[in-house]
Amino acid sequence: MPAGRNPLKRGCWGALRCYRLEKRAGNRTLAPSRRALGDSADRFEEGRPLSTARPGWDDYYMAIARTVATRSSCVRRRVGALIVVEKAIIATGYNGTPMGVKNCDEGGCPRCASDAPPGAGYDTCVCVHAEQNAIVLAARHGNATNGGILYATLRPCFGCAKESIQAGLRELVYEEPYEYGAGLEEAYRRLIAESGILLRQR
Ligand SMILES: [Zn+2]
Ligand SMILES: [Zn+2]
Repeated sequence: MPAGRNPLKRGCWGALRCYRLEKRAGNRTLAPSRRALGDSADRFEEGRPLSTARPGWDDYYMAIARTVATRSSCVRRRVGALIVVEKAIIATGYNGTPMGVKNCDEGGCPRCASDAPPGAGYDTCVCVHAEQNAIVLAARHGNATNGGILYATLRPCFGCAKESIQAGLRELVYEEPYEYGAGLEEAYRRLIAESGILLRQR
């Protein structure tokens, strides 16, 4: 067999696997795996020898949050979050239906499967948000969230912002923006300002 057609050559299988991963990711994901590798590679601390180069804290946690997002089964959007207390990750969360309930991509959430526009129909949405899951799973396992920092791949929604404040988190760091209409945006800004929680886009 000519060398170029040998399917066991590493390049062949690598390319096939890449293709499958890309295909499976489709349009409903932020393709976290590629971003996790490529994005942070640009942000390594400059001026250090390669052997000791490493990402800063924000990049480190956000890259992990992107990996967490890949576990989401939501058909709408994949979001990842984690909570850091004294530099240690105490909980992670991704969006999806509650434990014991059929996964979103198996029809567990009729709202996600419907053509409800973004931001509408949340009253009947079964999916738990990534940030909610991180907070709730910390509680479930008895890990204090007070004074922690939440990292999320998407700007936390109004509800998650309220819950973060109430969980005692002092900072919300997010990557992708989320647009609200003028009225809710103003209420969101007021909530953040009045509570004193820090909100910043990485
Ligand atoms: Zn969903
Ligand atoms: Zn939310």
